[in-house]
Amino acid sequence: MTARKALSSYRRVVIKIGSALLVDRKTGLKAAWLDSICSDIAALKSAGVDVLVVSSGAIALGRTVLDFPSGALKLEESQAAAAVGQIALARAWSESLSRDRIVAGQILLTLGDTEERRRYLNARATIKQLLKIGAVPIINENDTVATSEIRYGDNDRLAARVATMTGADLLVLLSDIDGLYTAPPHLDPDAKFLDVIPAITPEIEAMAGGAASELSRGGMRTKIDAGKIATGAGCAMIIASGKTDHPLQAIEQGTRSSWFAPSEMPVTARKTWIAGQLQPAGELHIDDGAEKALGLGKSLLPAGVRRIEGHFHRGDTVAIIGTDHHEIARGLVSYDAEEARQITGRKSSEIEAILGYAGRAAMVHRGDLVMTGGLRSKVNRKEDVVHAG
Ligand code: GLU
Repeated sequence: MTARKALSSYRRVVIKIGSALLVDRKTGLKAAWLDSICSDIAALKSAGVDVLVVSSGAIALGRTVLDFPSGALKLEESQAAAAVGQIALARAWSESLSRDRIVAGQILLTLGDTEERRRYLNARATIKQLLKIGAVPIINENDTVATSEIRYGDNDRLAARVATMTGADLLVLLSDIDGLYTAPPHLDPDAKFLDVIPAITPEIEAMAGGAASELSRGGMRTKIDAGKIATGAGCAMIIASGKTDHPLQAIEQGTRSSWFAPSEMPVTARKTWIAGQLQPAGELHIDDGAEKALGLGKSLLPAGVRRIEGHFHRGDTVAIIGTDHHEIARGLVSYDAEEARQITGRKSSEIEAILGYAGRAAMVHRGDLVMTGGLRSKVNRKEDVVHAG
């Protein structure tokens, strides 16, 4: 475990900013606060750190401008609010950063931009180019077109994907939560604050609970999910409160925050991408023998697959499910779903006779496979039909 160190000693930092920090539901954008964080960003940049911002607030700002009543919004209302809010949000960032002679570039991502490899590589190239020219990418989910099935829904996990995508070594999640406690502090007076989390164990996950504030989607749950994505790729994470002005300076000066250590053995970039996929296209249910073989670092052969679910194409990410019905691994599948079904349970030597051509011996090759263990929580958030933002 590398030790906790100054923000300015990281190479590339992704800062995620929660809606409640940027937007007051009565008065709109919190301009003074925005100016204060922009000057913190300028200080980091002059120390040689690449800075990327994942900014929430489009929906919250849009609904304030449009004077929508409080409470949950319908999907199309939140899309309209995002359209109105995002344009104002981007302008505010651009203007505030320009005071320190920093150029901002807006990037709006949808789930597919990080989940489909070609689009992922394309989005990554644009972001890297912005960094190369010294600009600060201001990133948000493209909420105007995202529907409940194809959206992240929370910027915590989006920010973690941006961090792994760009090879950042630190992710800072700023919201109205100052860090991780052993239990929800408002419910349990004995809850203890954790300032260093060496690894995200099932015990740490259990502390996360589920609640989110009115203005933002993400509660502690999505922050811990983000932590798994980031730390697994060798990126440290800090959860800190951004409620005061100059929140980054405050972290430097030792304000309370939780620091999550990066994993010592980060998987390769390709495997990080596979493991971080939020919506696998299908499931391969495997038998005991195959489960053991995967544990030994072997490929998944058709003979070890019992059942297939979903419609997927060759090259898509699938979840590999063990005999206890839990996901144990993820990988890029070598066959389309229909072909995969035909060779399920069969020997690799039979593939040519069944399909009429000699395909790959493995259903998922070990180079395309990453063990995700029992650590992953539910991946799909189809229940997100209304949006609190
Ligand atoms: N993308 C949403 C917005 O900008 C925020 C999502 C979140 O709060 O995590 O309004």
